[in-house]
Amino acid sequence: STHAHEERSLHFYNADHDRALAQRQRLEEDLRGALAAGQLSLAYQPLVRVSDRTPSGVEALLRWTHPTLGAIGPVEFIPMMEELGLIHEIGEWVLNEACAQAVRWQQSGLVLTEMAVNVSGLQLADPGFASRVSRALAQSELPPQKLVLELTESVLVHDNDAAMAQLSALKALGLRLALDDFGTGFSSLMSIARFPFDIVKLDRSFVQAAPSTRAAAAIVEAIMALATRLGMETVAEGIETEEQLQYIAALGCHLAQGYLFARPCSAEELTVLYPAHPPQ
Ligand code: C2E
Ligand code: MG
Ligand code: MG
Ligand code: MG
Repeated sequence: STHAHEERSLHFYNADHDRALAQRQRLEEDLRGALAAGQLSLAYQPLVRVSDRTPSGVEALLRWTHPTLGAIGPVEFIPMMEELGLIHEIGEWVLNEACAQAVRWQQSGLVLTEMAVNVSGLQLADPGFASRVSRALAQSELPPQKLVLELTESVLVHDNDAAMAQLSALKALGLRLALDDFGTGFSSLMSIARFPFDIVKLDRSFVQAAPSTRAAAAIVEAIMALATRLGMETVAEGIETEEQLQYIAALGCHLAQGYLFARPCSAEELTVLYPAHPPQ
């Protein structure tokens, strides 16, 4: 009967549910120990000048290599780190590691204009965050203007005044701020102008759709016009084709990032990709 069938599927559902829950709890336990176990690393993706395709800097992207499950993507584990309260400690490790790597490259003669580091809204909300950043800069001796902190629009919607105070404190350290994934969040175009951002990163979804989709093109062109008018630097994310590159070049976009140039790679691979320039 249908009734029996329903009972059976309900039973299966519960078993699946239990298994998924147990798996998630295991993953959370593993994540708590991931930093100490040396399973976290940074991948670096080049930012390329649109005008001549030369490397400008890199974005640091967190990677987790699980001992049995292999590579797990940040889209999956960053929210978990936030829920577990691990984001502060691990975020600080990311910052220190990225600054130290930038200095190592600089010492080997590889000229970087920027080392971009992603920052979660929870990190920004921590009143001690600016002093953590200040410490990372002092310990690594990275010139502050080389550091770019990438934040998404979502950090601006919760508490405008607190966010403004934190962003001002960060700016006072001499670093630069980038508005990441711009166009995907809930804030208005005014957030570009109201907060002290130096750089706008156009989200990959619009950049990729723009050459063939009128609505995406309208959004990209409006953001480009506003950012250019405000004297901000612009970065196009997710450039995979020549057509996309030509499109953003025609709009005067400064930097581009995407598989057309390079995928995120290890520090060693990046050193090979971009051989050192002789110090000038
Ligand atoms: P994001 O900051 O917008 O980083 C760019 C993402 O786009 C990266 O994904 C990168 O691998 C991917 N990407 C770059 N070029 C292309 C392309 O041409 N095509 C496609 N399809 N994708 C491209 P990833 O490494 O998986 O990171 C995802 C997100 O996780 C990041 O997005 C960022 O929001 C977050 N994230 C990564 N590392 C950190 C971190 O250390 N701290 C925090 N708070 N968030 C991080
Ligand atoms: Mg980013
Ligand atoms: Mg982004
Ligand atoms: Mg993105």
